[in-house]
Amino acid sequence: AVEFRQVDKFFGPHQVISQVDFSVGRGEVVAICGPSGSGKSTLIRLINQLESVSGGEILINGRPTSALTGRALRELRTHIGFVFQQFNLYAHLSALDNVSLALVKVHGWTRAKAHAKAHTLLERVGLGGKASSFPAQLSGGQQQRVAIARALATDPSLILFDEPTSALDPEMIGEVLQVMQELAHSGITMVVVTHEMSFAREIADRVVFMDGGIILEQADPESFFTAPVHPRARRFLQKVL
Ligand code: ATP
Ligand code: MG
Repeated sequence: AVEFRQVDKFFGPHQVISQVDFSVGRGEVVAICGPSGSGKSTLIRLINQLESVSGGEILINGRPTSALTGRALRELRTHIGFVFQQFNLYAHLSALDNVSLALVKVHGWTRAKAHAKAHTLLERVGLGGKASSFPAQLSGGQQQRVAIARALATDPSLILFDEPTSALDPEMIGEVLQVMQELAHSGITMVVVTHEMSFAREIADRVVFMDGGIILEQADPESFFTAPVHPRARRFLQKVL
């Protein structure tokens, strides 16, 4: 579904992604880990064109994305959900309106139809009773589950997560990981930047380890966690496990 071909990314003179070849198949769940500043967020932001490549090419479903503009770019983004560390919910909108907004504004659905779908999605993330709550009335874990429901609203074929549990109190991490686990089993393609090694180990199909803008290792979780090959991956695991 996603293919990076020798992708480079520079911010000014600084190269933060170097010659990355990387692909994600349909239905695959990929966990990306690595030290702070290694380029993980930049890598997934390149996928939905929140950042543009400086070199190389990213193909989505076989189509190059770097030349897309306007309608074609918006169309691409409706197929890609994004869940941020800081939820990024609209504070002045209820949970229901947060989830249904894009359906009404971007897709032209009637409010009634959009609300019906949003209700179903809130049920799916265990928040059927919180539809009329505003973000400030919800816990961090609940807000992040609303954000996941919002990301699902347009039926994306791919969801990107950037440290979705890093801003949460420890007791709320589990409820968000459980929703993500259910999504993973539903067959949606997921790319997840995470420090939750339990997620990477138990739910991901593949683990990608980055450092210094380079993918140093990619392996199935069992191999990665029991026998990491690259010394920097070994050192990283010693620190986080
Ligand atoms: P963390 O684990 O702390 O979130 P990360 O692996 O996600 O780190 P990135 O956010 O991708 O790392 O950043 C990679 C490098 O690119 C860092 O050196 C960062 O300072 C730099 N960088 C990221 N975004 C920008 C930007 N918009 N402008 C300039 N430099 C940037
Ligand atoms: Mg990051």
